[in-house]
Amino acid sequence: MIDLRSDTLTRPTEAMRAAMASAEVGDDVYGEDPTAARLEERVAAMFGHEAALFVPTGSMGNVLAVRSLVAPGQEVLCESRAHIARAELGAHGAYSGITMRTWIDPRGQVDLPTIRSLFAPDMGPFFVPTAAISVENTHNFAGGAVLPLQDLRDLREFATGVGAGIHLDGARIWNAHVATGTPFEEYGAVADVLSVCLSKGLGAPIGSVLVGSSDAVAEARVWRKRMGGGMRQVGILAAAGLHALDHHVERLADDHAHARLLAEACGVDPASVDTNIVVVDRSDAAEFVAAAHAEGVAVATVGPTAVRMVTHLDVTRDDAEKAAAVLGRL
Ligand SMILES: *Cc1c(COP(=O)(O)O)cnc(C)c1O
Repeated sequence: MIDLRSDTLTRPTEAMRAAMASAEVGDDVYGEDPTAARLEERVAAMFGHEAALFVPTGSMGNVLAVRSLVAPGQEVLCESRAHIARAELGAHGAYSGITMRTWIDPRGQVDLPTIRSLFAPDMGPFFVPTAAISVENTHNFAGGAVLPLQDLRDLREFATGVGAGIHLDGARIWNAHVATGTPFEEYGAVADVLSVCLSKGLGAPIGSVLVGSSDAVAEARVWRKRMGGGMRQVGILAAAGLHALDHHVERLADDHAHARLLAEACGVDPASVDTNIVVVDRSDAAEFVAAAHAEGVAVATVGPTAVRMVTHLDVTRDDAEKAAAVLGRL
């Protein structure tokens, strides 16, 4: 089976397992895991922020990140298909007492005029005040679309002017970096707090990192423990993340090339495929998924008429060519 359902499906390589096996560890709740500390320092520095926190999932990273900017009873604005709005099972409401309003953009982009019109200043006992704006780069359900740096900078300028925070869901910020060459610090500079995933295209088995100010990260460390996410000899997992940063970032360009190959075969304009995700619109989405499965290619629906295919570390050039032939024929 060539599995294109998600880039979370990667399994750790032998070299990654070796790095995990030899990791120096300690009890991280006591602040004594040197490998976790090394990963946190490294990722914070990459994005030009003061501090970082290793967390088990991107969802927990997002929950901690957004709550660092938005108090109970306040709102965060985001695009309507953002992961925080759609795929975290209401966590921001359930745990943090936060509401959301959304703008709609087919490519998941920053729509500054609409954001301006949605933004609500604190008006006392009248309206929910907007405390933050969240953006997702790359945008998962918009087909891995990249958000241009200039749009993010314009949003930063607006947010600073009105006193709002910016959360960047950078689950796939690595793909945006490789696709555009934009330095990580430039992405870091537009956000107050970011969450980045090691367990997607980077191929680590588990783990995300929240990045922000020392104060935000100290508070997130407390809340992580409160949510049951205090992990002990977690250097075993952090070592996988460090290995991924050393070996699996630049190779994402291969995944992007493979995605364009699939797009071409499926009649999707390859120029619309920024990174490693291809979304094909089909009225018979479920049947298409079943037919592909019968021919050894696993893809998934992400909506009633949307079929998603994702390339990753465990999909070789040969796999991509074979899958393209099958999917193109179907
Ligand atoms: C996968 C993903 C996350 C986090 O997912 P987890 O499964 O909780 O690690 C967050 N944001 C986006 C855009 C994602 O694609």
